[in-house]
Amino acid sequence: MTPSDRVTARVAELLDTRPDVLAEAADDFGHLVRRPPLGVLRPRSAAEVRDALVYAGPRGIPVAARAGGHSLYGQGQAPGGIVLDLSALDAVGPVSGDRVAVRAGALWRDVLAATGAHGLTPPVLTDYLGAGVGGVLSAGGLGGASHRHGLVADSVLELEVVTGAGEHLVCSPDRHGDLFDTVLAGLGQVAVIVRATLALSPAPVTVRRYCLSYRSLDTYLADQCLLASAPRFDHLEGQARPVEGTADAWTYLIEAVAPHQGPTPPDDRTLLADLAFDSAEITDLGHAEFAHRVAADEELLRATGEWLHPHPWLNLLLPEDTAASVVTGVLTDPGFRDLRENGLVLLYPLLTRALRAPMFRRPPGEVVFLLALLRTAAPGAAGPMVAANRGAYAFARARGAVAYPVNALPMTPADWRAHYGDRWDGLARAKAVHDPYGVLGGGHGMTG
Ligand SMILES: Cc1cc2nc3c(=O)[nH]c(=O)nc-3n(C[C@H](O)[C@H](O)[C@H](O)COP(=O)(O)OP(=O)(O)OC[C@H]3O[C@@H](n4cnc5c(N)ncnc54)[C@H](O)[C@@H]3O)c2cc1C
Repeated sequence: MTPSDRVTARVAELLDTRPDVLAEAADDFGHLVRRPPLGVLRPRSAAEVRDALVYAGPRGIPVAARAGGHSLYGQGQAPGGIVLDLSALDAVGPVSGDRVAVRAGALWRDVLAATGAHGLTPPVLTDYLGAGVGGVLSAGGLGGASHRHGLVADSVLELEVVTGAGEHLVCSPDRHGDLFDTVLAGLGQVAVIVRATLALSPAPVTVRRYCLSYRSLDTYLADQCLLASAPRFDHLEGQARPVEGTADAWTYLIEAVAPHQGPTPPDDRTLLADLAFDSAEITDLGHAEFAHRVAADEELLRATGEWLHPHPWLNLLLPEDTAASVVTGVLTDPGFRDLRENGLVLLYPLLTRALRAPMFRRPPGEVVFLLALLRTAAPGAAGPMVAANRGAYAFARARGAVAYPVNALPMTPADWRAHYGDRWDGLARAKAVHDPYGVLGGGHGMTG
């Protein structure tokens, strides 16, 4: 038997083609796109990931990695190809000093459970801890600490990957630095992440949460800029909320969190100085309770069945100077009217100098805003919402916005070229070297 025959035999042995397994791999959290693979492979080691790519590459078989399965528009699917279900590669730790090694199939709640036991946390967590390590690092990962510490991906010290060419490599800023930079926030275009070493920060035991309400969007945005530029809080997010009993009025809410440890509580007066909110609500809670805050929503939405409904979500990054006009335009757009009843609108600032991964695209300027339009559709009713996402993307893009590409947004190769701008040629070169058969990351539609 030749080495190539042995790879073929191992892949054939591991490939799961049962109809229910294929059906599951043809679905994701978005429930909008369904493209069944040829088979699902559940690697138990980097060597098995490598086998899959050595087998698939020369045959031109598409490969998609799946960590937590929370893609929104088929990005983690591999039509007629192989889905690498990384759920068996889920080891976390041990925690060593101020770092931890995690396998790409682990979920962030497992990462926090392991690090929290040592009084440590990844410096940035996304709102939802049920997403997978591989998926969040390949998107970038934004959260309330991003105004201080950048992306979740910015805390990665080292990666173990298997490239589309079937090379098993360890990379870091000092070792295969170009590959490291292309993988983080790189939408899985050149390699499958197998393991990541993450830097950790001390985790407070308790936190104080400030919910600050605003009637004026302009005042809200100005205060968010102030808080992002001169960070007072560890966590800074915010929302637009519909005013009940009105057809089109919105109110705005800053959610800011400060650590609360030891006998001395945070100094509310200093933290809230010079802000022009209309009212404030202040509560103390445990850090773990705060970090897991979306788990209660998930439980409720699973109970009502809505968790399994289509999610035509749209995430955009807005320049500071056009943020108010884009937000107003979208929130008054009839195509987004259902957001008032069945959605969540996140609107919070990011400090661009903190966002370091080169593949993460964002508008210029010191501060940019994440606008997340998170909608749930009745089964079969999402088509017009996806079309509205396209309209909002065009509207926002004409005002300098950039997509944060964890979206139910069909993007053309021309959109992607514009998205990457001066990074496009570098990505194409990296793709030619590390994914020469073009089998990885096809779910994003960068090449048509
Ligand atoms: C309820 C909810 C809340 C969310 N909140 C936030 C938030 O606050 N901030 C934020 O930034 N995002 C948020 N997201 C988006 C989420 O972070 C992304 O969708 C993320 O990509 C999901 O990762 P996953 O592993 O669960 O999904 P998957 O579908 O498994 O993977 C997503 C993408 O990553 C690729 N990928 C997966 N594993 C690997 C790997 N090992 N190597 C290379 N590529 C890989 C997949 O092929 C796919 O393209 C939220 C999503 C949900 C459902």
